[in-house]
Amino acid sequence: MRTLMIAAGLCLVAAASHAQDSARIKEVTATVDAKRIQNAESEPGNWLTHGRTYSEQRYSPLDKITDKNIGELGLGWALDLDTNRGLEATPIVVDGVIFASGPWSVVWAVDGRTGKLLWTFDPEVPRQWGRNACCDVVNRGVAVWKGKVYVGTLDGRLMAIDAATGKKAWETDTLIDRSRPYTITGAPRIANGKVIIGNGGAELGVRGYVTAYDAETGKQVWRFFTVPGNPAEPAENAAMARALPTWHGRWWETGGGGTVWDAIVYDPELDLVYLGVGNGSPWAQQARSPGGGDNLYLSSIVAVRADTGEMVWWYQTTPGDTWDYTATQPIILADLQIEGKTRKVLMQAPKNGFFYVLDRRTGQLISAEKFATVTWASGVDKTTGRPIEIPAARYFSGPAVVFPSAFGAHSWHPMSFNPKTGLVYIPAMEIPGVYNVKDYKYDKRTWNLGTDTLETFTAFPPEVAAGSLLAWDPVKQKEAWRIKYETPWNGGTLTTAGNLVFHGVAKGGKFVAYTADTGKKVWEFDAQTGVVAGPVSWSVDGEQYITVMAGWGGVFSLLGGDAAKATGVRYVGRMLTFKLGGKQTLKPLAELPAIPVPPPLPAHVTEATLKEGSRLYHMNCLPCHGPGAVGAGQIRDIRHTDASMFDSYPQILLEGAFVSRGMPKFDDILSKEEAEKIRYFVQAQAIADHEKRNKVPATKR
Ligand code: CA
Repeated sequence: MRTLMIAAGLCLVAAASHAQDSARIKEVTATVDAKRIQNAESEPGNWLTHGRTYSEQRYSPLDKITDKNIGELGLGWALDLDTNRGLEATPIVVDGVIFASGPWSVVWAVDGRTGKLLWTFDPEVPRQWGRNACCDVVNRGVAVWKGKVYVGTLDGRLMAIDAATGKKAWETDTLIDRSRPYTITGAPRIANGKVIIGNGGAELGVRGYVTAYDAETGKQVWRFFTVPGNPAEPAENAAMARALPTWHGRWWETGGGGTVWDAIVYDPELDLVYLGVGNGSPWAQQARSPGGGDNLYLSSIVAVRADTGEMVWWYQTTPGDTWDYTATQPIILADLQIEGKTRKVLMQAPKNGFFYVLDRRTGQLISAEKFATVTWASGVDKTTGRPIEIPAARYFSGPAVVFPSAFGAHSWHPMSFNPKTGLVYIPAMEIPGVYNVKDYKYDKRTWNLGTDTLETFTAFPPEVAAGSLLAWDPVKQKEAWRIKYETPWNGGTLTTAGNLVFHGVAKGGKFVAYTADTGKKVWEFDAQTGVVAGPVSWSVDGEQYITVMAGWGGVFSLLGGDAAKATGVRYVGRMLTFKLGGKQTLKPLAELPAIPVPPPLPAHVTEATLKEGSRLYHMNCLPCHGPGAVGAGQIRDIRHTDASMFDSYPQILLEGAFVSRGMPKFDDILSKEEAEKIRYFVQAQAIADHEKRNKVPATKR
């Protein structure tokens, strides 16, 4: 009886504390509106929108933590997030309350001072939808506005959550066709009371578009398609009519692509929204638009009016893209002094390897220079604004090795701009891609690239893939300094008024700080996992904090194969917060389980069976389990499973035995015999790996 009374008492205490938390969140988030976000510069302690302010510079004016005292920076707290997939989100912080999102579009509210989890919101994304995700089941962040938190879900819904309670306020379906493999991984942005959200799916085959919804009600306000639809139907608007003659063939059957899966940046001064538009569906232009053409508005930055979605200007970075050179990468707005004049610019370092500075009023090119190895174009013509292409890179008549690869010279990992140093800090990459046209027939159940995916992702040795932290002078268009890393897929950057740049390093799983002016390493923390997300800085009660989501993941960790494995990164999903004098430590990682000895292949398995198994594997399994079944960490390496798992392939692949764990089923595309062929291929890979690791001579087959 006494125990019961104590338990009831504790419940009452918990309920009272919960009510206090709710009241506090309600109070601090209710006033986040257009005026506050437009004046975010005057609230250095908060991180009110995706890139802190509407300019998305990811520069924190806080200067309590500096390059002089950073030796005292330590872990304030770590929150385990109970997930085994990538963490890519930039948190939003309002008066010490942190809102962040993670795998399967789950949202967390956390007390920033203590690391106490205030609530978790799970939109219950059907795990089967994970099959539609090219690049992990990640989410790059939420938006906060007038007491609500907004998240786009992997399965294409936009949800408004009551910030105080963590309960759903409303949801709306953003998809035009639920039979198409759309996904949302990007963060919504809010402009003039409208929530703006895009989507992904161009690797599988979709038509890209962006939609604006009323933030209060969820009612649709406007929609902007990025590529034309079926010409038999009327064009939706003047922008689509203008784009139509730049396309050929039957692109609309695959969708044409052009998804806006990351950068959406609002400019309150010009009342424009800049959309970063992605690659074509399929990638290979001769399959998508035989006869060529610019294929507007693929790989473009498009400016639309915030209130209507009407296009004002566009700038195409890669006309007629055929390499997956998306222009979805983060966009930064700034006023720069160029040739004696103040220019209102927009800056982007897209996948194609050029750093672009555009006049954001007109879309006119100011300058563009290579920030990484680029072999598809020799430069950008200043007069026309078009790239000067190297013809062989288009792989019309055979395979071509091209820099950058589809991973990009820079991907979604946020870059930052420090107005004090005048430098942009880019997590840059050097990964070659092999492109080769492959017979292509649209199948909505699989990836549709029109290229040989196996070659694209496996034909380079791991040691040629590298990364760097690049400090770039956008006015001079040249490198100021660069820190080179042995492996790519390093973290987003944050720069601060304390002359610092914070950045995650994949190899060995470190979170590092450098001086912003010279790139001197001044601090390092063993994060136990690759940190890929963009860090944030905020303050409450005079204390400055640095917060980052720490969890290796995303497309490179899934299908980077041996190059991703070379990072040696382990997966742990946490939110980490640092402060001066922080003394917490991370729990040591558990030992890795022993790798089982793979069972021998039955005698009836022939080379032809393995070849067909490899084809089926790379068509269906590559995006999550890696080339050659080399798993790089976040999802278990499927070569390293035991005999009973190998025996269960039909149950897993066809009956969905592990759907609840995020492993979709493929009964619509694979037969039992094909599932067995995949099993034998993976098993053969496991045997080869076992022999290599144990230096056993390869068995004769
Ligand atoms: Ca893509």
